[in-house]
Amino acid sequence: LDRSSAASDVYKRQGLTVSALGLGTVKIGRDKGVKYPNSFTIPDDRAVTELLAQAQDLGINLIDTAPAYGHSEQRLGQLMSQRQDWVIVTKVGEEFDNNSGDSHFDFSPEHVRFSVERSLQRLNTDYLDCVLIHSDGNDLAIIEKGTLDALNDLKKAGLIRATGMSTKTVAGGIASLNHADMAMVTYNLHQQDEAPVIEHAAARQKGILIKKAFASGHLNDTLDDPVQESLDQILGIAGVSSIIAGTINPAHLQENVAKARQACKMAAQ
Ligand code: NAP
Repeated sequence: LDRSSAASDVYKRQGLTVSALGLGTVKIGRDKGVKYPNSFTIPDDRAVTELLAQAQDLGINLIDTAPAYGHSEQRLGQLMSQRQDWVIVTKVGEEFDNNSGDSHFDFSPEHVRFSVERSLQRLNTDYLDCVLIHSDGNDLAIIEKGTLDALNDLKKAGLIRATGMSTKTVAGGIASLNHADMAMVTYNLHQQDEAPVIEHAAARQKGILIKKAFASGHLNDTLDDPVQESLDQILGIAGVSSIIAGTINPAHLQENVAKARQACKMAAQ
């Protein structure tokens, strides 16, 4: 599932090689305050272990989590085997309370350090491959506060290999790329306004992770194959390093990888 493109070379330079598809893990940790079209049950330990093994067998090496995804980090730390074979992306800034189902945000440098140290502990590792700021939408104000600088300091200290921000605005995405290694942006068949961030990354050889590639499951059923169309369109964009697709359904995981392979083949022609 490797993608030979300039975008994946960005990671190689940092000693990271990422698969074209990564696994999003909101649904293994949290079922409150989410906007998926169908209700779901958080999978048990056995199902998560099997999902991780299946993802690896299919060639996925990239996994995306966050403190805001409920129990996701702790469960990955407990259930993930062969940590060294995974590229782990986590975040700082959003805090989710499993009991109340509410989030609050803290972008202070002190909280960044606390959160990264907690992620290391929860994920049962001594380094994080990538840490992104989990934006509340005020992207530029957060960067001006020095939150990215705090993350970059932890990178210099060797706790993190790459830094960036999961943004909600074009200006924020571009600022993240100017101050860090990558940005995570929304891009799907319905929402493409963050395309200039991807172009900026391509021109500067920075990394781009795509979130909500399937519009968080709100797929357009007037299309013959919205999953294939989404993957073809997104993996056809040179600046995209990888799509973080969320699923807890093994059949969907298999389908997504097969279709991502097809999309990569088409993009390479
Ligand atoms: P997504 O990947 O666009 O969509 C996930 C939804 O699509 C799930 O409900 C999944 O259901 C469904 N799905 C997956 N494959 C499918 C298929 N082949 N056919 C039909 N339905 C399918 O949206 P997302 O989960 O919101 O975002 C993906 C990941 O990005 C998250 O898990 C998270 O890691 C990251 N993210 C980050 C942020 C941020 O601010 N940093 C925000 C949102 C998301 P099943 O489980 O039933 O397959």
